[in-house]
Amino acid sequence: MTTVAKMEDALRDAEARHIVPLSGGKDSTALAIYLAQRHPDVPFEYLFSDTGAELPETYEYFERLEHVLGRKVTRITALEMLGIAEKPGRNPFDVVLYDHFSGFLPSPRSRWCTRMLKIHPFERHIGSDRAYSYIAIRADEKRSGYLGNGKPVLLSEQPNITPVYPFKDNGITFDDVKRILEESGLGVPEYYEWRSRSGCYFCFYQQIGEWQGLRERHPDLFEKAKTYESGRNGRRYTWVDGRSLSDIENMSRRAMKPKSDDDGCAICHL
Ligand code: SF4
Repeated sequence: MTTVAKMEDALRDAEARHIVPLSGGKDSTALAIYLAQRHPDVPFEYLFSDTGAELPETYEYFERLEHVLGRKVTRITALEMLGIAEKPGRNPFDVVLYDHFSGFLPSPRSRWCTRMLKIHPFERHIGSDRAYSYIAIRADEKRSGYLGNGKPVLLSEQPNITPVYPFKDNGITFDDVKRILEESGLGVPEYYEWRSRSGCYFCFYQQIGEWQGLRERHPDLFEKAKTYESGRNGRRYTWVDGRSLSDIENMSRRAMKPKSDDDGCAICHL
């Protein structure tokens, strides 16, 4: 059974670390601003687990967020965790993909990327310290974990890391998130014009219309995503079940569909 802390109790705990994990999405960004504005005395640590394959818009958004917060966003990667130096042209995703998973691309059924590139680096960064992890689930979300038939969204199940849900505690909804971002001058991330989620440019949770949006906005990244499908060791993998990206580029343009609260990866897409 997961122990969840109420925000007011967590904020009073001066002995623990206070971690705000960021995905580059609107909700976690709004939470960072909300906490920084309301509790300037709390030494929040703003943390971003970088897969090395985020959208360019996300990296720019973090730079602007740092100005709004007046604080650094700490970037952590799986490479630090694996004791490997960063080199140009070899990002954390590639290292884990080829050195640990033999080129086997992640998928909704085998989501090793979230575990290896987001969760483990996060846990390593916290170590054995007692910490609160502030998670940006909104009060108006209908996630199964909050309707009594599943687990709440967690970044880690380590007993020293306690989740806190400030937006749920304080009734913060989608409209409030938009308002917090607008009033801060940051606004929502630009990629929401063509894509519904934060995360890697090749995220397998993308809809067909979003892959087509990637091709229009970032043709170089679309081509790069295609190169992963050519496979190694004579094996081929595709990002989309049963379809290659070459198939997708030949399909007629599809619109982006609304997604449910349970769609995708709650860790990467908040
Ligand atoms: S954004 Fe998608 S591809 Fe990237 S780590 Fe998360 S689930 Fe995996």
